[in-house]
Amino acid sequence: MNREPVSRELFDEVMVPNYAPGAIIPVRGEGSRIWDQEGREFVDLQGGIAVNCLGHSHPGLIGALQEQSEKIWHISNVMTNEPALRLAKTLCDLTFAERVFFANSGGEANEAAFKLARRYCWEHFGPEKNEIISFRNSFHGRTLFTVSVGGQPKYLEGFEPAPGGIHHADFNDLESVKKLVSRDKTCAIVVEPIQGEGGVMPADPEFLQGLRDLCDENDALLVFDEVQTGVGRTGHLYAYQMYGVVPDILSSAKGLGGGFPVAAMLTREKVAASLGVGTHGSTYGGNALACAVAQKVIDTVSQPDILKGVRARSERLRKGMMDIGERHDVFSEIRGEGLLLGCVLSDQWKGRAKDFLSAGLEEGVMVLVAGADVVRLAPSLIIPEADIDDALSRFEAAVKKLTA
Ligand SMILES: *Cc1c(COP(=O)(O)O)cnc(C)c1O
Repeated sequence: MNREPVSRELFDEVMVPNYAPGAIIPVRGEGSRIWDQEGREFVDLQGGIAVNCLGHSHPGLIGALQEQSEKIWHISNVMTNEPALRLAKTLCDLTFAERVFFANSGGEANEAAFKLARRYCWEHFGPEKNEIISFRNSFHGRTLFTVSVGGQPKYLEGFEPAPGGIHHADFNDLESVKKLVSRDKTCAIVVEPIQGEGGVMPADPEFLQGLRDLCDENDALLVFDEVQTGVGRTGHLYAYQMYGVVPDILSSAKGLGGGFPVAAMLTREKVAASLGVGTHGSTYGGNALACAVAQKVIDTVSQPDILKGVRARSERLRKGMMDIGERHDVFSEIRGEGLLLGCVLSDQWKGRAKDFLSAGLEEGVMVLVAGADVVRLAPSLIIPEADIDDALSRFEAAVKKLTA
């Protein structure tokens, strides 16, 4: 067994260079605090990129994982299992959904969603109705299909040929969608209610309602990618519930497992029927351990006081960042919902989001970026108020150094 000490340098020797991880290696976390190899402490406003929705080492999640780990871990989809059935039932009870497909990542949940949309239209309208309309700057995952539907061409560079039948419109611009949509060819419109990776950009309510209407008029399916916005992130269990616009298919991942890999695609019975026996699958999808943990996450996050708490924490964090922005003239706007916030850099700091991330680390606070112009925050949904205040003063110290 190899138990030699490891350091960041080893990354460059043994890992594929597709990531550029920071200098520190976190080894332990509790709540919204993280400690690195040297014992340095950080307040975590990254939340594992909107994954650790109940923070680190949550006693309820540890309990759920331990309990299930002593029963059964995995049995494949040749048989079903109790945790998967219970979780699917819970998701159906709490959302528009009547049917659930489990996967392991956001990309896979979206892959299932896009394949289902194609298959549904193929079955009901024929093979010509296969076009997917998505949006510039959107992000849907890194499989070849999802990266092609995503609206950031740089992620597709060098991986072509891409799957065909995909068009991109402008986010929050209904006219640009109308130019692409057709009853004969459009099978689905795919949208993030709040573009996450694309800069924490919320959809206008009229825009989402307009997409719903366009789908209804053109017999197309409306797909909401709620991989980042779901599981309480906006202060609502799913963002569609906040907007009051109901999709036909919804993908959920990131926060769903609170740090354990699990994803789900939700849909209605009539649409689900197009993924008949043998049409799609996943070895790990619906894994018993993953579903037991996700059950605890959903049972916890769906409680009204937790969701209300997200909105209260959001106000505190948003106000704190606005004050810092005003005092140091670094932000032009704070946007987003709940605990998915984007601090948009003012003109003279444009392009330098990464510098804020690095400066934050030096002062003991972890923030994210969303592109080069936005500092993104996606902390635990139950982050203590004291940790928010601590994170804000650490971040302000970082901003002071940066602007000095
Ligand atoms: C993160 C993300 C994905 C991809 O999820 P993975 O688990 O990395 O495959 C897809 N869509 C959105 C909106 C995301 O934020």
